[in-house]
This record gives sequence, structure tokens and C-alpha cells, in this order.
Amino acid sequence: MTGVRYRGRFAPSPTGPLHLGSLVAALASWLDARAHDGAWLVRIEDIDLPRCIPGAAEDILATLAGFGLLPDAPPLWQSTRSAQYSAALDRLRDRGMLYPCGCSRKDITEALTRVRQRHQTLGYPGTCRDGLHGKPVRAWRVRVPEAGQDTVCFDDRWQGRFCQPLADDVGDFVLKRADGLWAYQLAVVVDDGEQGITDIVRGMDLLDSTPRQIHLQHLLGLPQPRYLHVPLILDAHGDKLSKQTGATAIDHREPLVALQKAARHLGLEIAAQDRAAFLEQAVRAWRARHALPA
Ligand code: GLU
Repeated sequence: MTGVRYRGRFAPSPTGPLHLGSLVAALASWLDARAHDGAWLVRIEDIDLPRCIPGAAEDILATLAGFGLLPDAPPLWQSTRSAQYSAALDRLRDRGMLYPCGCSRKDITEALTRVRQRHQTLGYPGTCRDGLHGKPVRAWRVRVPEAGQDTVCFDDRWQGRFCQPLADDVGDFVLKRADGLWAYQLAVVVDDGEQGITDIVRGMDLLDSTPRQIHLQHLLGLPQPRYLHVPLILDAHGDKLSKQTGATAIDHREPLVALQKAARHLGLEIAAQDRAAFLEQAVRAWRARHALPA
């Protein structure tokens, strides 16, 4: 036993079959949970319905099972959780942390062009902070603290300390989108909180979403999990490998080969004869490198 209270999760969006990048994230989160004798959950992040592909979630779950990455509870489907997201939104609205936004993308681009002449602002410039100026409501945004008090920092277990000034880099961000869908940032925070997730292990592409999620956890009174963001799979030019080129495809009929490839990317060279031996050795190797202090 490691003596660390641990609940981890893998949270794929069902926009296609599991590919090498998502297998790396799945394997890393599974290894971290098993290395700490923790629970490992799977959450299907199917809130962005227009981007979801029918059957992809079932396909991902079947691939994970075929690879021996079995969750400790039935998967949670975000598409069933609208009432919980709505309740969280109401709580933030009641506390005055939200405001309706009537800006289109074009309005935002124009406002940013004007503001940029004065500041280095990259995020939403706050056009609707003090009212809709006669525009209809499109989205709901949460306030971030004023510049100067807006920097959120955390210690990532792989990437080290990461800090982001929310006001300048992001601005007040959307929790309910103009198309009526829930934003990823809200859903992920509500679900991680409700599922009691203590450890989030996922791809580096989400590192700069983390300060927004920590801001929401604080506003909603939820505990802040530990984070570990694994490196992305890049090509020789340092670009993220694209699904379209097939470069990240994995052979679902060859679990051991795919798992070894994913492990290699995590810096683990595991020369096992079969899947069970691979998983056992990989847990030991992961524990040797990434064990949390007891
Ligand atoms: N659903 C997100 C994705 O597939 C991952 C969310 C998360 O791990 O926080 O990119």
C-alpha cells in the first residue's frame, strides 16, 4: 500500500476511436492510479454533441478493455449530467460571479484589436462585463479576478510550476455557450469534484486549461486535485501529430505493441512477453519514477 488517498480518471471525448495520443493519456492515468493503489474511473465527455461520433464511446471502452485498462466503476456520461451543470451555474450566478454575454466572435475580434493598441490582452476583453448594450444574450461568462490579482499557479508533477495570469491570457471565460451547450471547463470541474477525483493525469494540451479549472474549483468550493500533464506526441518538426494523417493510429488487435509504443512515449521501456506481464512491470516502473510522497 502507498498510503496515498487516490482517485484518478480518464476522460475521453468520443470524437473518434482511441488513438496513440489518447492511449498515452489513458495508460498514464491508469498507471498512476494503480501505482498508488487508487481507483481509476472513466468518464465519457460527450457534451459537445456536434463533435461526437456515434459508437465512438463504445469503441473506446471496448479498446480500453481489450488493452486491460479496466475502470473500477461504470463510466459516467456527461450527456446525462445537465442538471448538475445547471445547478453549478445557478450557484455561481447567485454569487454574482457570472454575466450574460451578447458578443459574437466578430465583436470580440474588433474589441481586441482596439484594446491591443493599449495592452497585451489576449483573452476576452470584458465588453459585456457592465451590461449587454442592447444585444441579446448569447453565452454566460464567469468573471476572473482583476489584472494584478489574477495569476493562478500550481505545481504539475511532470511539468513543474505553471502560472497563468487569467485576466490577460484568458479573460472572463464561457461556461454556457452561445449554442446552448455546456462548456468543457464547467463540466470537467463539476464532474471531477463530484467524482471525488484527487489526481488528474492527462495530455499537455490541457495544461493551460488548468488555471481556469482551479479558479472554478475555488469559486465552487471544490478541492483542488493534483495534476500531472504528460508530453504530447510530436513529429520531427515539433508539431502535434494529426489524426487526419493516420500518424497516431494504433492497431487495436495488437494490444501489447500499442501499449509498448505508448509506454515508450512516457519514457518506459517495457520488454514483456504478454499484456499482463507488461501491465505489471509498467506499474512498477511508473511507481519508481512518479510515486507521490506517502
Ligand atoms: N475530454 C478531454 C479530451 O478528450 C479531456 C478532458 C480532461 O482530461 O480533463 O481532450
